Amino acid sequence: MSGRLFVIGLGPGDARYLTQDAVESLQAADALYGYGPYLDRVPVRDGQSRYPSDNREEGERARAALRYAAEGACVALVSGGDPGVFAMAASVCEEIEAGPPAWRTLDLAIVPGITAMLAAAASAGAPLGHDFCALSLSDNLKPWELIERRLDAAAEAGFVIALYNPVSKARPWQLSHAFALLGRKLPATVPVIFSRAVGRPDESLTVTTLQAAGEVGANMATLIIVGSAETRVVPREGKTPLVYTPRGVAKVMA
Ligand code: SAH
Repeated sequence: MSGRLFVIGLGPGDARYLTQDAVESLQAADALYGYGPYLDRVPVRDGQSRYPSDNREEGERARAALRYAAEGACVALVSGGDPGVFAMAASVCEEIEAGPPAWRTLDLAIVPGITAMLAAAASAGAPLGHDFCALSLSDNLKPWELIERRLDAAAEAGFVIALYNPVSKARPWQLSHAFALLGRKLPATVPVIFSRAVGRPDESLTVTTLQAAGEVGANMATLIIVGSAETRVVPREGKTPLVYTPRGVAKVMA
């Protein structure tokens, strides 16, 4: 029997964000691997085994899933959001490249999901209506100096910037540092969106400015979108303002 490995994006939270493809792939799997809290979101099916693991054990988790699939099992490895965005799909590819040749012939399917950036943008309006980029602020896998360089370049280029992994217990100061750095290139009035636990029951949205962004708390479940100089805020009576970036730019700024 030939094994299968699905790398599945669960979307940002609630089951209604699962794609039909994700639902069917989860159903088909004999075994589920993933970070514990993500696995907890998947409904239990009889006869399906579960292998929860810790946040930081991505390489080992990917290898375990690959080994089991290579034995002939139908295995699902789950990620929050999209598996290809700062998540397990790249980890699986790294292990396949470094691993035994047999892993390359496994039946592998990456099942996309709604990434936090898109769910957060939708909850605020259309901040990604024009050119944008996404950065992880985590310096677990890259040096902080590189993050600073990329923030600088992104602001310089006029991109709207989505920030994943804005803070963690091990990284208490980086976010305010990032805002200060962006403040050197961008107007203080640029809109900043804090989208916390989007797609979950405790979801919250805060719209502020770059100048005041340091006063808003963020945690590991927050996705931040820093607007560009073109991003607009439309106040709405009794509602959070609508934040959007117009589709076109009239002229190139000097
Ligand atoms: N693969 C995931 C991202 C993993 S990195 C995806 O595509 O969404 C983890 C970071 O994603 C978190 O620190 C946070 O910045 C963001 N994130 C994930 N789920 C979120 C949610 N429901 N609400 C807001 N941000 C979220």
